[in-house]
Amino acid sequence: MNEIRWNPLVKWWIIVAEHRSVRPWRPEEKEVEFKCPFCPGAPELVHLDRWDVVSLPNKYPALSSTPLEVHRESFEPYRVREAKGSCRVIIETPEHEGDLYTLTLEHATRVMEVFREEYLKLSQLDYVEYVAIFRNKGKEIGVSLTHPHSQIYALPFTPLRILVEIGSMREYQSRYEKCLLCDIVKYELSRGIRVIYENRDYIALLPYYAMWPYEIHVYPKKHLNSLGDLDHEGLKYLADALRVITALYTELLERDAPYIMVFHNPPTRGDHSYYHFHVEFYQPYRDKEKLKYAAGIEWGFWVFTYDGSPEKKVLELKNACEKVESRLRGVLGECK
Ligand code: ZN
Ligand code: ZN
Ligand code: FE
Repeated sequence: MNEIRWNPLVKWWIIVAEHRSVRPWRPEEKEVEFKCPFCPGAPELVHLDRWDVVSLPNKYPALSSTPLEVHRESFEPYRVREAKGSCRVIIETPEHEGDLYTLTLEHATRVMEVFREEYLKLSQLDYVEYVAIFRNKGKEIGVSLTHPHSQIYALPFTPLRILVEIGSMREYQSRYEKCLLCDIVKYELSRGIRVIYENRDYIALLPYYAMWPYEIHVYPKKHLNSLGDLDHEGLKYLADALRVITALYTELLERDAPYIMVFHNPPTRGDHSYYHFHVEFYQPYRDKEKLKYAAGIEWGFWVFTYDGSPEKKVLELKNACEKVESRLRGVLGECK
């Protein structure tokens, strides 16, 4: 069974994918030799001659262009629809280990180019309403494969999180006749307190309203609607900022750091020119050793408590940024 169910209480969609319950988990180190499906020579990749970055369909997709038929009526309050969409995996390098920051700037820019190409291509599909690009890393967040990769879900609906953001940005625009994120960027740049890194086009900051102790948001300094609006040069500055952030997490935790990275773009249909593209990073640790768990108050009520103060926590991130700046070759901006 594979379908999309409406939760009428919260007003969001849930993707039900029975077949995904059988997907494999990476075996423990000492167990039998594990063949990485993303390394050169893997069955899905043998047809490719030479590659640096490659986009493949997800082997266990939650959504598909030819979904299973839904054999029941959609009615109130139990609405249902077919799981039509697309799930893709972006293999970022033939190298088995690494992260965005272990790639050269040129290579990381190539990854951004593939994100953009996929974003534009998937946006064209008539059944796609939202293209969600994200990167999960680390066993702490349940990632079974260490080979550097990101994912894209082309969804037939707009996620609630994005609906909330477009509502807020639209309201701010109509009330003050300016963009919410442009305003935040202006304020943060004038104060500098929470700004961690800055290059020509982007600032990376620990938000005033962070949920996670080491949350980092990457905002374009000038109003930019979506990833689709960037050219090669623009993608290079984005790649630069993401390399610095991923490197500083590893510096901060003194080991290969887990994180979640999400690209917030506007929905693919309708005029959302007021929307300001950005990237968000969630870090599961609250210091070097301790995990910050989302539990009752967070999951049950969507209320986050921030353990510490963002204005003090940011000093640790600024410090880690300075250390990676010298080590990453060809960094385009500077740590604050
Ligand atoms: Zn591999
Ligand atoms: Zn803006
Ligand atoms: Fe956002």
